[in-house]
Amino acid sequence: MKQLPIELPQPNKLVKLSPDLYWGRLPLPFRLDHINLFIIDTDKGWVIIDAGIFGEKTRQYWKALLSGVLSTKPVDKIIITHHHVDHIGFACELAKMTGAECYSSLEEISHANFLFNLSPSDFSELLASKYTSYGLPKREIALGRNDSDRYLRYVPELPNFKEFSEADTIFGTYSSWRCRIDCGHSSGQISLINDLDKLFLPTDFLLPRISPNISADLRNADKNVLGDYLNYLQEMSLLDPMVKIFPGHDWPFVEGNERARVLIEHHKKRLDLLLSEAKKRPITVSDGIDVLFGRRFQSHELFFAAGEARAHLTDLMHSNKVIKEIELRDGCEVDVFTT
Ligand SMILES: [Zn+2]
Repeated sequence: MKQLPIELPQPNKLVKLSPDLYWGRLPLPFRLDHINLFIIDTDKGWVIIDAGIFGEKTRQYWKALLSGVLSTKPVDKIIITHHHVDHIGFACELAKMTGAECYSSLEEISHANFLFNLSPSDFSELLASKYTSYGLPKREIALGRNDSDRYLRYVPELPNFKEFSEADTIFGTYSSWRCRIDCGHSSGQISLINDLDKLFLPTDFLLPRISPNISADLRNADKNVLGDYLNYLQEMSLLDPMVKIFPGHDWPFVEGNERARVLIEHHKKRLDLLLSEAKKRPITVSDGIDVLFGRRFQSHELFFAAGEARAHLTDLMHSNKVIKEIELRDGCEVDVFTT
C-alpha cells in the first residue's frame, strides 16, 4: 500500500481530489482524532458524504464551509454512509442548516433507529446483559451498565432518512459515482465508486493504518459480521492496485488490494489464536479479550474489544470450528465456546 502525496485539508478548507470530488477533515474527541468527509459537485448542488459527530466544533466547521467554499450552490443531498456516531451524529443539524434531505442504506437506517430509540436505561440493560453473556467480570459489567448514553450523547437527534441503495448513482459534474453496500465494520455501509477515473470512497471498510473494528451486532451476536467482512476483503484483494482510495480516516492511498490482504491476515491470525486456546479449554468472550489483546480496558474501548472478540468467536462458530454452549455461572447464562 502506498500513501498518495496529497496534502491534508486545512481546518475549514477543502482539498480538490478530482474535478468533482472534494475532501474535508473534521476533528473528533477520540483517540482516532479526525474523520474525513467528502463532497461531490453535481449540477443540482453539493452532495455531502457524512456529517461528522454532534458538537460545537462540527457546527462551526459546517458554518464556515457553507458560508465559504460551498456558498456557490445549494446542498442537494446528505449521504450518511453508516450509523456510527462520528458519521451520523451531526446529520440532523446539517439537514436543518442546509434544507437538504439525508439518505442512507435501509440496514444503516434501521440500525441507527434501533440504537437511537433505546432509552438510556434500556441501553445500559442491553449492554450489561451482553457483557454478562460474554462472561466479563462484574467490574466490567458495571462499566457497561454505566455506559448508557454512548450513542445518544453523540447522536441527540436523527433526521427522517430516505433510502440510498445500490440502484442509486450520483451524477457529478464530471463523472458518476455508483453505490455499493457492505456488512462488516457496520451492518450496511455505503461506499461510492467512480469506475471511469478509478476512484473509491470505502469509508471505514478499507483504512490505510488501522484495522476497522469488527464488532458483533448488539441485536444478534450470532450474526457473522466478520465472515461478511472477510468476503468483502477477498473481493478487495482483487482490486486494481491503481484505484485511488479515499478512506473515512487517515490518508488517501493506492494498492488497496495489498491492504486488503494484510487485513485478511490480521483477522486470520486472531482466529487462529482463539481457536488454539479453545482447543485447550472452553473459552468465553472475556477469555477471548485476554487472548487477543493481553489486557483489560475501560468502558469506551471495552465495548470495541468485547465486540471484536465475540465477532471472531462467532466466525469460528459459523465455520464449524467451535460450538457455542450456554453455561450457568452465578445464576447467569454465559456463552462458552469449545471445540
Ligand atoms: Zn465506523
